[in-house]
Amino acid sequence: MGYADQLDTPVQYVKGVGPKRAELFRQVGITTVRDLLDFFPRRYQFFGQVKKLKDLTEGESVTVIARIDEVDHQFHRYPARSFASISDDSDSGVVRWFHSRFLFGRLHPGQWIRVSGKITLSDGGPMFTNPKCEFFESVPEDITGSFTLPVYPAVPTIAPKTLSDLVQRAFMDYGNFITDWFDPVFLKEQGLLPLREAYTWIHKPEEKENWTQARKRLAYDELFYMQMGILLARRQREIAAGAIRLPCTDEIDLHIRRRFPFDLTEAQNRVIKEIIVDMDSDHQMYRMLQGDVGAGKTVVAVYAALVAVANHRQVAIMAPTEILAQQHYEKISQYLINSRVRIELLVGGINKKTRTKILDEAAQGKIDILIGTQALIQKDVEFTHLGLVIIDEQHKFGVAQRAAIRSKGTQPHYLVMTATPIPRTLALTVFGDLQMSIIDELPPGRKPVETRLFSSSQRDRVWEFLRRSLQRGQQAFVVYPLLDPSDKLELNSAREEEKRLAETVFPEFRIGLIHGKMKSEEKKQIMHAFANKQIDLLVATVVIEVGIDVPDAGVLVVEHGERFGLAQLHQLRGRIGRGGQQAYCLILADPKTEISQKRLDVFTKTNDGFKIAEEDLRIRGPGEFFGTAQHGLPELKLADLIDDLQLLIRARQNARQILAQDPQLVWLKHQRLKEELIRRLGQKLGLIEAA
Ligand code: ADP
Ligand code: MG
Repeated sequence: MGYADQLDTPVQYVKGVGPKRAELFRQVGITTVRDLLDFFPRRYQFFGQVKKLKDLTEGESVTVIARIDEVDHQFHRYPARSFASISDDSDSGVVRWFHSRFLFGRLHPGQWIRVSGKITLSDGGPMFTNPKCEFFESVPEDITGSFTLPVYPAVPTIAPKTLSDLVQRAFMDYGNFITDWFDPVFLKEQGLLPLREAYTWIHKPEEKENWTQARKRLAYDELFYMQMGILLARRQREIAAGAIRLPCTDEIDLHIRRRFPFDLTEAQNRVIKEIIVDMDSDHQMYRMLQGDVGAGKTVVAVYAALVAVANHRQVAIMAPTEILAQQHYEKISQYLINSRVRIELLVGGINKKTRTKILDEAAQGKIDILIGTQALIQKDVEFTHLGLVIIDEQHKFGVAQRAAIRSKGTQPHYLVMTATPIPRTLALTVFGDLQMSIIDELPPGRKPVETRLFSSSQRDRVWEFLRRSLQRGQQAFVVYPLLDPSDKLELNSAREEEKRLAETVFPEFRIGLIHGKMKSEEKKQIMHAFANKQIDLLVATVVIEVGIDVPDAGVLVVEHGERFGLAQLHQLRGRIGRGGQQAYCLILADPKTEISQKRLDVFTKTNDGFKIAEEDLRIRGPGEFFGTAQHGLPELKLADLIDDLQLLIRARQNARQILAQDPQLVWLKHQRLKEELIRRLGQKLGLIEAA
């Protein structure tokens, strides 16, 4: 058994654990000594400096270590109470407890006690009432200094105190086997604690600063190994050259540009350049295109698609919903009108015959661009020469789905688009293996949407505003959180409100309803009617959240705005004001919590998608932010994806440097590091051959 392997000792063999507790630990995922050492406190109770009894003053909060001289239980009284007289070498005092039956049999003279709490000065000297305390059978070893109680995540039926004792025990017996993978010089340079010290302090900090330093070191390691994994994955892809080069000539460029009825913005041109370079390489492109709603990503995607088609390659475009796939299809068809490019739509709703035909033609290479939903990644979909995969709204897809679509061709180039701006930390972690292109400029002539917040009691004012806008010929959306009324929530819902608005509020206007439970054909018809101005006011659920492009909608009303996520609201707002007119977003909301109020304030104050995304991430945390938590990366126990940006950047630089100097990690001084890398990420990413 190697030195470090000692840490793999089953947790059962830690003194005091045994088979029974080992089973309990197993249930929370702790099977080895290492797992126990990596079981970090959730929080700490910090107590002040230990003081002598004679130095105490009225009202102060202190910790005292003293001997119990006398015990008096008065369980017959109500509430039951107990008293202990205590003394140290300076003076004596009293501890009293109310509701103290739990102390029965646990308290006797001669014991030592560590008490923390607020002091009142009484006749018997300084007195603690219902303090935090810990009992010892003899003088505790460390009776000076301040102390801290770690509070661990609960393990069923193991008392918190026992839990922290067991961790301490494990650390005492096995702590010596913790060896560092970084050398001391480097650690000093980086201002990081040695590993063993970090473990000492994370489990038992004496003061906040100990904890801060310990957390920093351990968080750094989490981020460092994560970056190593990401960089190795990327390198593995790069080593495996074998993508088809899809060059873009001036002629192709000219041809493509002619298809757009406008000049591309500077930002669009910049990201197109980045994409072209990537596609003209035998390394797979693996790029993410970020741009706020309406920034013009679709156009860029079409450009990339046409470069592939010009090179006689097929393109798959995958969207998260049918309605979006439909829209991409129509939009792209418009750009391609009178061209020879064959484009088809494959969604769940189409009939079997059409589906079979499309599948055949895709497999024979007759279709150039195939657009669809998840249906595109089903097993029976085949391509002859898939050259490019474009995925819209990437965060809505799980890792598995992304991998599945990528496996459809021999290393197709890969472009993912998102309108949810990814905060920098996430870009470097969750999407760290993607190159980033950002469209940070809107097409000309767009005015920022004006956003106002109303309480539901002001609904009539909102309807009046809406009426005047409709009279001027503007179109509008009204969005509801629910389609049908719910027993549990007292909320207005789309179906009912559509009726009410049509019959009593806006009888003079044409009103439509669209929602996710409609057949795709039906949705399509409604969207067409809206686009052709046969509908003035469209009542909707969040189906319109993603990507629907309706140039002439000028007003968006959201009911029960507090029920929507920030990113969701931002997406909704992106649906309006795309035609150059001043657009208005009116939010009806009765926020019930401070957070809810705050996020609505953020939303009204800024149109900046990045700010909104960061705020959203802060409020909801990364798991929620992505809908699914399955981003396939190691769990971060201590590192924080919002606050640790600087640490993350350093960890990334360091990981880069190491891999640049020693790409195979063969240097002697990197062996510990390599071992740990394999241990942390090995199975997960299957990188070991690469390393
Ligand atoms: P996104 O997919 O980023 O939300 P789209 O590509 O759908 O944005 O573009 C939004 C709208 O802006 C579309 O109506 C599109 O025709 C228009 N548009 C895109 N690029 C330009 C441009 N360079 N100049 C003018 N209008 C543009
Ligand atoms: Mg779009």
